[in-house]
Amino acid sequence: MTPTFRIALIAGDGIGKEVMPEGLRVVQAAAERFGFELDCRTIDWASCDYHAQHGQMMPDDWKEQLQGVDALYFGAVGWPATVPDHVSLWGSLLKFRREFDQYINLRPVRLFEGVPCPLAGRRPGDIDYVVVRENTEGEYTSLGGVMYEGTEREIVIQESVFSRHGTDRVLRYACELANSRARKHLTVATKSNGIAISMPWWDGRADAIGRDYPEVTVDKQHIDILSARFVLQPTRFDVVVASNLFGDILSDLGPATTGTIGLAPSANLNPERRFPSLFEPVHGSAPDIYGQNIANPIAMIWSGALMLDFLTQGQGAGRAAHDAILGAIEAVLRDGPRTRDLGGTASTTELGMAIAERVAAA
Ligand code: ATP
Ligand code: MG
Repeated sequence: MTPTFRIALIAGDGIGKEVMPEGLRVVQAAAERFGFELDCRTIDWASCDYHAQHGQMMPDDWKEQLQGVDALYFGAVGWPATVPDHVSLWGSLLKFRREFDQYINLRPVRLFEGVPCPLAGRRPGDIDYVVVRENTEGEYTSLGGVMYEGTEREIVIQESVFSRHGTDRVLRYACELANSRARKHLTVATKSNGIAISMPWWDGRADAIGRDYPEVTVDKQHIDILSARFVLQPTRFDVVVASNLFGDILSDLGPATTGTIGLAPSANLNPERRFPSLFEPVHGSAPDIYGQNIANPIAMIWSGALMLDFLTQGQGAGRAAHDAILGAIEAVLRDGPRTRDLGGTASTTELGMAIAERVAAA
């Protein structure tokens, strides 16, 4: 029987609306080529246009409307001219992440041939790793407060929260991922020399979980030197796991070392599949280039490949589809056409069509 995956398409705002059709074009070409069905549902909320009409980003029954969906394929939200960014973000994307317990934020980082690297002397193959960020707790809490506010004695306290459950599950996910890759190397971001309570504890959990994966090399590195090595020695990395704050920083720094933001994909995962996972480009809605059909659709397309891989649990047709899409992206980055951010003149649509054609012929 042909497997069917139910996908909610949420284009959002700005270039989200331009890269979505190209992502879908490629994902559908892959489904046709590799033998599975996509049951796609277009969602017109979770956008600032919807907000303009309804005063909120999503309908009250948004969760019911997504019942039975396996994955959310998401463009970008944000149109600061009409809705402040924190309102659009907290009213949509961050709600999905939280309510669907998408505790893994996954960002592959890779340097491709044909893409100028901001790091001198780096070649394709030198940068090829995955950042796994804890997405639900850690440093990002609203616990704390201000004392003696407005006086010379003013004191601010902001708590971090690390639960054993929340920490172990992200470390275990990262160990599993490292174990499934050729190099079997895991870097654990820490700062146990400065953050004297939570980080030594985090290190201890990494040691404990790591013991279940004897084939994986676990390398704990302080976040300061680790950041420097992203720039100076990127070949050291395979899988990198980090708390919410450190992961946030690393998952922007990594893609920045590989050229344009127009390439960087991400996945927000609930690995147990109790809730739908969400796949989106790292970039935002880019109001400055919206409406010209010049946005690079590759980040959206690569996110679609991650989605297919996840839906099929990294096996069979989904893995083959993922690899074919990556191969097509690689070929187009090498041989063209190229969008403006890559120094070319091709349109969003032309790039999407070129990649879809290669996938169909894979
Ligand atoms: P966020 O909404 O995530 O906070 P942002 O609004 O700060 O992000 P983006 O919307 O990602 O930023 O845009 C940052 C810059 O990168 C802009 O100049 C934008 O034109 C450019 N950019 C973003 N995405 C793409 C893309 N897919 N192709 C080409 N250029 C892009
Ligand atoms: Mg933005």
